[in-house]
Amino acid sequence: MPIQPSPARYLGRVSEIFHASLPSSVCKTASTPQHADFLVHARFPGDPVSTAFACMLSHALKTGKRPLIRGLPEAAFQGLIQNFFPGLRLQNGPANQNPPATEDEYGDLVALLMQHRRHQTLASEWLCHAIVSASLNDNHLWQDMGLPNRGILSQLMQENFPALAAKNTADMKWKKFFYRQLCEQAEVLACKSPNCTDCCDYALCFETEAA
Ligand code: SF4
Repeated sequence: MPIQPSPARYLGRVSEIFHASLPSSVCKTASTPQHADFLVHARFPGDPVSTAFACMLSHALKTGKRPLIRGLPEAAFQGLIQNFFPGLRLQNGPANQNPPATEDEYGDLVALLMQHRRHQTLASEWLCHAIVSASLNDNHLWQDMGLPNRGILSQLMQENFPALAAKNTADMKWKKFFYRQLCEQAEVLACKSPNCTDCCDYALCFETEAA
């Protein structure tokens, strides 16, 4: 189904994404007890998608996010847990702590990923929601997913969303790249320049994301 993003309602957020500098404090979760629990219960140890869920969920737990994955009803979340981490007891949390997907960019970002996913599976749908849930936070996307470094996120994108990843030819920061895609699809210019090479915010969008 073609997506029709309408970023007019969240232009403030788009502006934040492109123009704000990032907070310096970043929380990593690789050694938290929650993360260890995911590893103990992992049905597919070492699988990149399983690792991404473990990192993202343990990071969301540590930072107090609820629901852990926005957009997943509790039954769907339990399906994710039983498929990837059988035996782990974990609730997604109340869905009503977020605005409806039609009131912010959440739905458009999920549609962007869903349109480009390699596998038409439930697991890939859960992954879309997990990535977008993390992308609504304020740090680099790989940090808000609790991943050890940006390279793992890039690999995850290339393996699971190859057509979308291929469009990121200049290796733009992933969150900014998602929003840039939405703006281009809606033919809205939220950036300070029509092209990146002439833009005063170039460093914010492309500079190295330190681990
Ligand atoms: S034009 Fe390019 S460099 Fe400038 S804000 Fe937009 S995406 Fe970033």
